[in-house]
Amino acid sequence: MNVVILLGGPGSGKGTIAGRLVAADPTLRHVSSGDLLRDAVKRQTAAGVEADGYMKRGELVPDAIIARMIADLMAGIAGPCTLLLDGFPRTVAQAGILDGTIAGCGASLAAVVLLEVADEILVDRIAGRRACPGCGAGYHVTNIPPRVAGRCDACGSALTVRKDDNPETVKHRLAVYQAQTVPLIEFYEARGALRRVPGIGPIDEIAERVRRALS
Ligand code: AMP
Repeated sequence: MNVVILLGGPGSGKGTIAGRLVAADPTLRHVSSGDLLRDAVKRQTAAGVEADGYMKRGELVPDAIIARMIADLMAGIAGPCTLLLDGFPRTVAQAGILDGTIAGCGASLAAVVLLEVADEILVDRIAGRRACPGCGAGYHVTNIPPRVAGRCDACGSALTVRKDDNPETVKHRLAVYQAQTVPLIEFYEARGALRRVPGIGPIDEIAERVRRALS
């Protein structure tokens, strides 16, 4: 198993780009730590109940919770594939934990892709972001509009705004990104693993840039 880490601020397009890459290449698998946690919250598992408050406040959940979810998921994967890790690791401590998980399951870190997007664009993207509570598909009111306004193309559910996409929480999430996740850029750059990709422009172009960065 190969692991590709997608780095970038909230709203930088990690999930959207991962979705495009996976649609074109079945050997890739998208793993979003935020989706894993939201699913645990929805199912009210012990981890989900603990994570809920942190997520509502826009803070990082304790390392042990998310690290266990990622480790369990990786341990359950049989056969060759490339994981696109979106949202994990988010701190240098989590990167250390991931190194252990990768080694433990005989995987290797193929690359770390940083989607570079200016903060004002991130804020604007998050403000227009919509999600499908039914199937998890992501939209944006202007950049990725659904065919019928407010309805998911795939399953028809009414689209919602994520609880943590309100302006106050977004401001906090950006500050958390700067303080806790930005140090990872230097961490992976020092290892020679970092590939910087401009994260603005048409989605297909960004996806193509990421594909080139990984080839
Ligand atoms: P995301 O969907 O990646 O924007 O994540 C949504 C929220 O889930 C974050 O604001 C955190 O509260 C939590 N979260 C996601 N990934 C992690 C992580 N690697 N470490 C800690 N908390 C996380």
